[in-house]
This record gives sequence, C-alpha cells and structure tokens, in this order.
Amino acid sequence: MRAAYLVAPYRFERREVPAPTPGKAEVLVRVTAAGVCGSDLHFYSAGRIGEVVLDQPFVMGHEFCGVVEDAGEFSASFPKGTRVAAEPSIACGTCFYCREDRPNLCLNLTFIGFPPKGGGYAEFITLPGENLRCLPDSIPDPQGPLVETLAVAIHTVELMGDVRGKSVAILGAGPVGLLTFLFLRYCGATVAYMTEPIESRREFAQFLGMPTVLQPDDFQSIAEQERELDGVGPEFVVEAAGEPASYSQAMQFVRRGGTVIYCGIYPYGAMSVDFTPARRKELRMVFVRRSLPRNYSEAIRLVASGEIDLAPFCRAVYPFDRVATAFEDAWKRVPGLVKAILHPVG
Ligand SMILES: [Zn+2]
Ligand SMILES: [Zn+2]
Repeated sequence: MRAAYLVAPYRFERREVPAPTPGKAEVLVRVTAAGVCGSDLHFYSAGRIGEVVLDQPFVMGHEFCGVVEDAGEFSASFPKGTRVAAEPSIACGTCFYCREDRPNLCLNLTFIGFPPKGGGYAEFITLPGENLRCLPDSIPDPQGPLVETLAVAIHTVELMGDVRGKSVAILGAGPVGLLTFLFLRYCGATVAYMTEPIESRREFAQFLGMPTVLQPDDFQSIAEQERELDGVGPEFVVEAAGEPASYSQAMQFVRRGGTVIYCGIYPYGAMSVDFTPARRKELRMVFVRRSLPRNYSEAIRLVASGEIDLAPFCRAVYPFDRVATAFEDAWKRVPGLVKAILHPVG
C-alpha cells in the first residue's frame, strides 16, 4: 500500500509498504479521507509536539474516515464496505482515569497518528473495532475527518459547563475556534466576538455567521465590546490560537471572576506569561486535552442531522499524492484555506 511518511521537518516521502494485518479485536479500514490538523503541523515543522519527539519516519493522520475491509469479530456491526469514522484515542479502559470516565487522560493512552501508532496518511490502517463509528451517508468523505475536530470543540464547551445565555469571546478562528463558535451557538451561548489575525479567516468566520471578528491587537474595538458586555467583558474566553500572546490576552479580555479555556496547543517549551491578571481577577482556568468518545458520537449526530454544517470547511481538498502541498499550504496558511483535507487517499 502507499503511505506518506514524514521523514524530516517539512519533508514527506511516499513509500510502498505492506498493508497492516488486523490483530485481535481490530478492524482493517481503507482510508478514504484524512485531515491536516494544527497538531500535525507541530510535527511537520518542529518534529515534535510538547515532549513527544519524532525520531524516525512516521505516518501521521488522526482525523480520517474510510471503508471497512475486514472487520474480524466486529463483522456484525461493521460489514465489509461500511463507511466509518474513527475515534483516534485508544484508552485502556481499566486505569484510574478510564474508570472515572475521563479516558482522554488514560494512563496507557495511545493515539492514532501519534507515535508509536501510525495514522491515516496511508491506504490502509488497523484500529480497534471499539474506535469505529458508522458514518451516515449524509456525511460525505471530505467531511469525515472534521468530525474529530468538532469532537474537540464539543469537549471544550462541555468543560465550560452550562453555557446557555452566557457571553463568550473566542481567540483564534482556525477550525477548532470556528467549530467551537458553531457549537456554542447551538448550545445557546452568545459569542460576542472572535479575534483572528488572518484576514481570510476573519472573512470566513463572518461567512459562518460571526459578525464581530477583530484583529487581536485592535484593543479599541475589544474595549468597545467590553463596554457592550455590561462594561465587564465576556464571562468566558476560549483561547483557540495556541499563541503565547493570546494566552495572555485571554486573561486580559475575560471579566473578573470569569473562566478562561485554553484549547490551543502552544509551541514547545517554557513561555513567559504573566499570571497576575488571573490572580487579581480570581479567574478559573481550564485546559483541554483532545476529546471523549461520547463527544465523537455527538459530533456525528450533529453533522448528520444538519445542526452543524461542515461543508464550508471542506474547500481545500488535495489528492493523496499532494500531501506535501497540503501541508505546505496549511503551514503557510494560504488565504482561503481553513482545513486541508486529503481525498481520495490511496
Ligand atoms: Zn486534531
Ligand atoms: Zn486507561
């Protein structure tokens, strides 16, 4: 089968390798579409995410969908040919956190497309049958990978608690920030404004129905927004940019006693952030790690029912042979690109 290996920062190599053989309780899936995630861009550019370093050529891709080729013991639920999306977290099910219903914090977690488990930038992949979800025909292939991104947005909002009627600002209009906006709106929250430095992304956010999308350093307009929110600013600020500057801004923009939710992945290493505002404003600060299996199922339900429309996110579709271009474009944030999708794969 064909597989795209990241062999060095900014460099892919297409290799012919044997297709994997499913182990016990595993399913063989032919990948049809795979997404490029912001976290993949960390591997692409720096060869690492946090303390996880790529020390050999690696097949990334944790956002994907496909068709079942061989379901083994799962044949009754997933007959050959079933379209599936895959939840990328493989939790042990028995550790303290799994028993606490927080499998994203599992002590023995493996994550597809994250070393050591190769991902969906390949024609075939094996994964536990437990991780598969049927992908309804109303969700076309290029949207399949975005289900994972939406699950992260849902988990982010879930960690905020009851958001109905609450005011929120979102820093960063990348896929996670935008999907968080759509899900917050669905949940009845009021997203007062977003900030985003890239013009095409500001326009796209407006296209999705977010009227107020500001430059992150347009402090005058942000102060105006604060005045409109009872003069105290939003109750929640979601940091979805992963930039050191927006880490600080989130604390600045949120109201006293409010909550900041960090779901962006910031570059590796220590960063200098002044936490004085957090103390003086008595903030709650929440950090997000990926998502939960139930968020994934909820994401599929929301897209299948038309509550959340992923179609506008799927404008940058690349054939599998052009994986290098897809990454280059995503890394350079070429205008108009929100999410790079590989389709078809293989
Ligand atoms: Zn991702
Ligand atoms: Zn566990």
